[in-house]
Amino acid sequence: MNEPQSTSVESTPRLALHWQILIGMIAGAAIGLLLNLSLSTTDVTRSEDIPGHLSKVELHDSTNTITITTFTRDDVKTIYEIGGKLDAKYPDLKSFEADQPDLHAVFESHGQSWARQIGNLCKRFGGLFLRMLQMVAVPLIVTSLTVGVMGLGKAERLGRMFRRTMSYYICTSFLAIVTGLIMVNVIQPGVGTDLTSHSPPAYAAASSSLSEVLLGQLETLIPNNPIRSLAEGDFLAIISFTIAFAIFALMLGGKTAATISNLAQAGFDVMMKMTMAVIALAPLGVMLLMLYVTATHGSAIFSSLAWYMLAVFLALVVHACITLPLILKFIARRNPWEFAKAMSPALLTAFSSASSNGTLPLTMASIEQRAGVRNQTSSFVLPLGATINMDGTALYEVVAVLFIAQLVGIDLSLADQVVVALTALLASIGAAGIPHAGLVMMVIVLQAVDLPVEKQGLIIAVDRILDMCRTSVNVWSDSCGCAVIDALDDE
Ligand code: ASP
Repeated sequence: MNEPQSTSVESTPRLALHWQILIGMIAGAAIGLLLNLSLSTTDVTRSEDIPGHLSKVELHDSTNTITITTFTRDDVKTIYEIGGKLDAKYPDLKSFEADQPDLHAVFESHGQSWARQIGNLCKRFGGLFLRMLQMVAVPLIVTSLTVGVMGLGKAERLGRMFRRTMSYYICTSFLAIVTGLIMVNVIQPGVGTDLTSHSPPAYAAASSSLSEVLLGQLETLIPNNPIRSLAEGDFLAIISFTIAFAIFALMLGGKTAATISNLAQAGFDVMMKMTMAVIALAPLGVMLLMLYVTATHGSAIFSSLAWYMLAVFLALVVHACITLPLILKFIARRNPWEFAKAMSPALLTAFSSASSNGTLPLTMASIEQRAGVRNQTSSFVLPLGATINMDGTALYEVVAVLFIAQLVGIDLSLADQVVVALTALLASIGAAGIPHAGLVMMVIVLQAVDLPVEKQGLIIAVDRILDMCRTSVNVWSDSCGCAVIDALDDE
């Protein structure tokens, strides 16, 4: 096992980076909460966009609550009136404005309250940090993976690493699912809970079948245009093409292999340096993102869903603090606490950004620079993990689906629960490493056991906070997997 090579992610000698990020996170949350308290009851709640899939806008005033739900970012399908006077459906916000100028004006004006303006401004500026991370992600993955694969020297070693990586992913996701199943059956958060007063926006219909999703994943492994995949940041396609490219370069050997290897190494060094510079901004970025989240998500909704949240949270804690550390201790022979400390910049950023893909450059930098895992392992295990290994998401899917079943009074048999477990595993593999992807994929699990998909609307309000928690667990599992594979490769 390698010793940590340097501590250059520690950007200041005074306070370690993870402490800076933690302080930023707490400060952002506190300021955001204060702002949130200052929002009046007639204010507008605009939930954030869910890239490529969903977005939801809610408008509350003393007489109305309107939820505008979209299936795709640009395609607003329906407006629901929940408590009052509207009874209309609009294809988009513009027709809503044309038909209901007064309500639209209320929406716009309340939407611009000073507290919300600050929240949205923070989102924009925090978004700059995420953009920087996205900016470095693709070149970092390509150069790092090329260096990693060429460093392995032989295709057989790659094959062995692939097998081990996939086994780890499937085993830990399975353990996470079992933890979730036990927790939701013990706590039974949906039994005796009445949420009929909450709005059920039925956007869940935007679904595709499981086989379609998985076939789609398989297709993206063979990009018809690798350059387009690079431009679009299509991780699976980038990974498969880069691995193929590096393997063929290795097979050619000689001068060609040496040139590619040197080029990739030089590119990787530059990208790592650049990533470090971005990471130095993490405390500020995290603070702004936390401020936005707490400023725009009220606290009232949490109480009715407290048991559900507790079940998800406790199960995540068991998986992250018991199961994965045991694996780390006994298979990777690492001190879990020290390893968690080394990975904390990535874990905290995952928490505040709710995106494993977005956090990937930080995860790669932390694991190599702070935890001392070899680049040949991390360059392979982490990008793949960010895309397909999602323990937190798999666990969340089973708890949420069983919660919904309990809410609607459907007793899922053991066989049904096995179906939930299996589809949750596949849904987590299919979910992208972006905010709310797990929520989108849940439709597949609900459909598998014939549960009403529109009931998913009940848990949207608390999805952001749960997304933050499960994303940290996703990144933590990827990191532990990396340490495990690295240790096994040593033997
Ligand atoms: N946000 C999660 C991630 O990026 C995916 C999910 O929604 O569960 O890992």
